[in-house]
Amino acid sequence: MADTLTIGIDLGGTDIKGSLVDATGTLVCSRTIPTEAARGPQHVLARIAWLIEDLRRDEAAAGRQVIAAGIGSPGPLSCRDGVVYQAANLPGWNNVPIRANLAAASGLPITLENDANAAAYAEFVAGAGRGTENMVLLTLGTGIGGGVIVDGHLQHGAFENAGEIGHTIVQPDGRPCPCGQRGCLERYASASAVAQRYLEAARQCDSPPTLAGRGDVTSADVAAAARAGDEIAARVWDEACRYLAVACVNLQHVLNPERIVLGGGMMNAGEQVLEPTRRHYAALRWQLADDTLQIVPALLGNRAGMIGAALLARYERMSGD
Ligand SMILES: [Zn+2]
Repeated sequence: MADTLTIGIDLGGTDIKGSLVDATGTLVCSRTIPTEAARGPQHVLARIAWLIEDLRRDEAAAGRQVIAAGIGSPGPLSCRDGVVYQAANLPGWNNVPIRANLAAASGLPITLENDANAAAYAEFVAGAGRGTENMVLLTLGTGIGGGVIVDGHLQHGAFENAGEIGHTIVQPDGRPCPCGQRGCLERYASASAVAQRYLEAARQCDSPPTLAGRGDVTSADVAAAARAGDEIAARVWDEACRYLAVACVNLQHVLNPERIVLGGGMMNAGEQVLEPTRRHYAALRWQLADDTLQIVPALLGNRAGMIGAALLARYERMSGD
């Protein structure tokens, strides 16, 4: 079994990425095809099935058997039922039975997982979480995705919503979130929140800051402006890192992980996120025990979703046998 391969699929609104992955999480080969999401779920399912078949053509060349496929998808979804309830950037996706559909099309056992959990599992096995048994991944993008590993196992929870750390409340009665709550972490510390908060602060300012008048500000722009001495950018950026540090302290006390791994587009700023987050964490954390966690960058980039999907398919196949 150690010599077998599994397929990992990362389903996104723009592209579908697929790869053959070995037991260590190493990519044997990869392909990317356009999702063509506007043509609806049946069309997208057919494209995933085609990609799985295409990857299996390399099975013979690799000389190793493909034993299962894993799908990392936007959610909400049910891993247990194999159904995607809804998917960001995939119009028309309502209660799509993706596992049954792709199992019938491919003849392979299919595992479904949400994309953030798949990425967390990949970092745990083959990336920045290697060597730990307890780890949390936070992906800082449009929102904040999360995945939690406790004692070596990816956590789902009673209602399969464990790890939705972006929707932990860090500011009661704070900024409204599309989820219906107020003050969610991702309204302060995601890449899009940093850009939005900068624009709001700049509008209230008398002397126009660096990025004034631009409608398409990104977190990278705010990071660059902060480095160039823009005080509003520096303040918004520092506040985002402080909220991340609050999340780290809270995760420390709930889960006691060895490491918190930060990924997603905002982490292109690297040390500009890590240094202030670590500094705020050191100032905020308790002194009762020496259980300080490490805050480290993710290592697998945008390959994490498909690597994790493939590794979870292997995990499920092994535990099912
Ligand atoms: Zn929320």
